[in-house]
Amino acid sequence: MSGPLRQEDLAPEDRPPAPPEPPVVEITDSHVAQVGAFQVRRALPHRARRTVGAWCFVDHMGPTTVDEVGDIGIGPHPHLGLQTVTWLVAGEIVHHDSLGSEQLIRPGELNLMTAGRGVAHAEEGTGTYRGDLQGVQLWVAQPEATRHGAAAFEHHAELPRLDLAAGVATVLVGDVAGTRSPARHDTDHIGIDLDLRPGTTVIPVEATSEHALVVLTGAIEVDGQRVEPGHLAYLGLGRDELPFTVSEPTRALVLGGEPFPDQLLMWWNFVARTRDEIMEAWEDWQVADDRFGVVASSLDRIPVGPPPWAPRH
Ligand code: MN
Repeated sequence: MSGPLRQEDLAPEDRPPAPPEPPVVEITDSHVAQVGAFQVRRALPHRARRTVGAWCFVDHMGPTTVDEVGDIGIGPHPHLGLQTVTWLVAGEIVHHDSLGSEQLIRPGELNLMTAGRGVAHAEEGTGTYRGDLQGVQLWVAQPEATRHGAAAFEHHAELPRLDLAAGVATVLVGDVAGTRSPARHDTDHIGIDLDLRPGTTVIPVEATSEHALVVLTGAIEVDGQRVEPGHLAYLGLGRDELPFTVSEPTRALVLGGEPFPDQLLMWWNFVARTRDEIMEAWEDWQVADDRFGVVASSLDRIPVGPPPWAPRH
């Protein structure tokens, strides 16, 4: 999916706030953003919290309905320095990228594109699917070791699952209590889908990581606080388990990782460290440089004006 990110959530010159002391439950409101034909609830970045581990962007799309007139259609656009993680609860999307990948994404399948120093993709409807659509697109900031490297694409139709006291966890990325996802991960971050039934479930996690919870449907109570869709609950560092209680069928995501070491500069669909890197990427997209390649898509390339700090011509 695609920006634009709100400048007020980025404040690129500021250091992100230090994580509060544990145990913490810090609930922030997601804000509504327009992505193609649909509105999404953007939980991250937020001015109060820009990253959770290497996770730097969380869009919750839907639940909505795909019909003859409304379907996802996000034309070719570039990415830099990040991985896109697409995960559906309902519906179908087709991914096309400049590596030549064409992949139907269905619920329970993980779509993972690594941008490195540049890639472009489009996200489209199938043209035939009708019905519910709900999912997330997440971005993972790449570390210094890989962010200048080659682009890549993976699709995982099968992911490991973990039986919980009151539900099932699917490990999207990383290792949860010895259950390891096959998906590429350049840092130690984790991503877990939770499908919970009424009861209490305890998720074992690493105390050296920070964690956050995003509820997609239903509600979760954690440390006496109720978390519903449209929010991000930041759970801080220092927890070795996450105790979740639900009273209705609930779908949610847990994201975590060791606090990201670098100060990120995010603009549009780019994750970098400096303004020069962003300017260079923007200029390369403007002139359709080979860096981002060509996407086989019937949709138009998405244009964007210059970054706000660009010199006026
Ligand atoms: Mn995208």
